[in-house]
Amino acid sequence: MTEPFPLAPSLWAATAPPPPATPPLDASADSDVCIIGGGYAGLSTALHLAERGVKAVVIEAREPGWGASGRNGGQVIPGIKYDPDDLERKFPDTAEHLIPFLGGTADTVFDLIRRHQLDVPHARSGWIQGAHTPASVDTVRSRAEQWARRGANAEFLDRTSTERLLGTAQYDAGWIDRRGGAIQPLAYARELARAAITAGAAVHGDTRATRLSRNSGRWTVSTDRGATVTADRVVLCTNGYTGDLVPKLRETVIAPNSFQIATAPLSDNLRRSILPEGQVTSDTRKLLLYFRLDHTGRFIMGGRGPFREPKGPEDWAHLERVLVKMFPQLGGTPIEYRWCGRVALTRDFLPHLHEPEPGLTIDIGCMGRGVGLQTAMGMKIAEYVATGDPGALPFPVTGIKPLPLHALHKAYVSAIIAWYRLTDGGVKASA
Ligand SMILES: Cc1cc2nc3c(=O)[nH]c(=O)nc-3n(C[C@H](O)[C@H](O)[C@H](O)COP(=O)(O)OP(=O)(O)OC[C@H]3O[C@@H](n4cnc5c(N)ncnc54)[C@H](O)[C@@H]3O)c2cc1C
Repeated sequence: MTEPFPLAPSLWAATAPPPPATPPLDASADSDVCIIGGGYAGLSTALHLAERGVKAVVIEAREPGWGASGRNGGQVIPGIKYDPDDLERKFPDTAEHLIPFLGGTADTVFDLIRRHQLDVPHARSGWIQGAHTPASVDTVRSRAEQWARRGANAEFLDRTSTERLLGTAQYDAGWIDRRGGAIQPLAYARELARAAITAGAAVHGDTRATRLSRNSGRWTVSTDRGATVTADRVVLCTNGYTGDLVPKLRETVIAPNSFQIATAPLSDNLRRSILPEGQVTSDTRKLLLYFRLDHTGRFIMGGRGPFREPKGPEDWAHLERVLVKMFPQLGGTPIEYRWCGRVALTRDFLPHLHEPEPGLTIDIGCMGRGVGLQTAMGMKIAEYVATGDPGALPFPVTGIKPLPLHALHKAYVSAIIAWYRLTDGGVKASA
């Protein structure tokens, strides 16, 4: 796996099972559906199409999981930024289906792992969201209540319980959603690819789609290998790594890098002092901090970083300082891995579905919460493509609306990061 910063391979690349064979596309192919992008969204679409007997070809520029899907925190978190009551107000006509869909995204992941016996280290101990200020205590209390009212195994945690479960006194309270859990994210992407291939889909790595054209009702996807895929339909799932295949699409999102570090495996003593019951966690900061242990007992922490690609280990130094401030007992523990990846943020914090031309479906705007969501989106897109029923899609199909002055957004995001850093409040030093 080629990383943007070659000195810093990710923990996940070092510990995932080998990828399945995904040879480049060297001969032109004909298919029912061509899927561009081999992350969770594209691979899940391919798997679910193949299971429905629809011929699907995935074209991935690098290898399955090369994008956010192989680099993320591996926290499987149901829902999106909006709470269920907000969703009822925002989507009065479809909330009845949308809320269970969003609440079930973690189920989709763990069901796939079980059903296909995927070789993915995983644990379903729940996800905790810490309230990082007294003002956010009511937010997490309400969030827990709203989901619990709808049948989720979720509850508010007071300050003492939050401290006991997280191993830090940073948070004023929290809530636990026991539907969530942990996976090794690159293992999951590779194993999804393997399951899709076993089910009958073709997956081609090292093959970049370079052009889309439509003739006589069919699509031709040109690639940098020279070979083409001709298909009735195209599904584009390139998210934070979206290029210029579809005019203006890239300008509908901002794609900042999220940065992560992982320590050497902790001793049993240290392990017992942090996340002793094995939950994964992120907090209510706008620039959220997230952390977990992996299946070998390494501590992993992620958060903001520069918008640009990293230049060297100093670009992760802020996270290393936060880690020791929150968990002083980790002070002498070496940091063994540093890596990052791009998320695609939309202006309304919702995933976007577009269909600029008949037979071209686009899924973009994964936010930082796409392990469950993009797996489940792929399942629904497959249902839509196979049946033609637009009711299968969880979100409305909207027009492509570029963000105004998109080119300025990198500077804008850097300014926002600086501002949030001030307003989010610093990390308190632990005793
Ligand atoms: C550092 C980080 C931490 C995160 N942590 C979490 C977390 O803990 N929990 C969570 O739920 N979510 C998390 N996320 C978000 C989650 O990883 C993403 O939402 C999800 O992986 C998106 O999947 P995807 O398939 O839509 O896109 P991606 O996985 O980004 O896949 C897009 C693929 O498209 C390919 N591509 C692009 N252009 C072309 C082309 N022209 N031709 C062919 N292929 C192309 C790319 O190579 C890439 O592999 C995190 C993201 C990052 C970056």
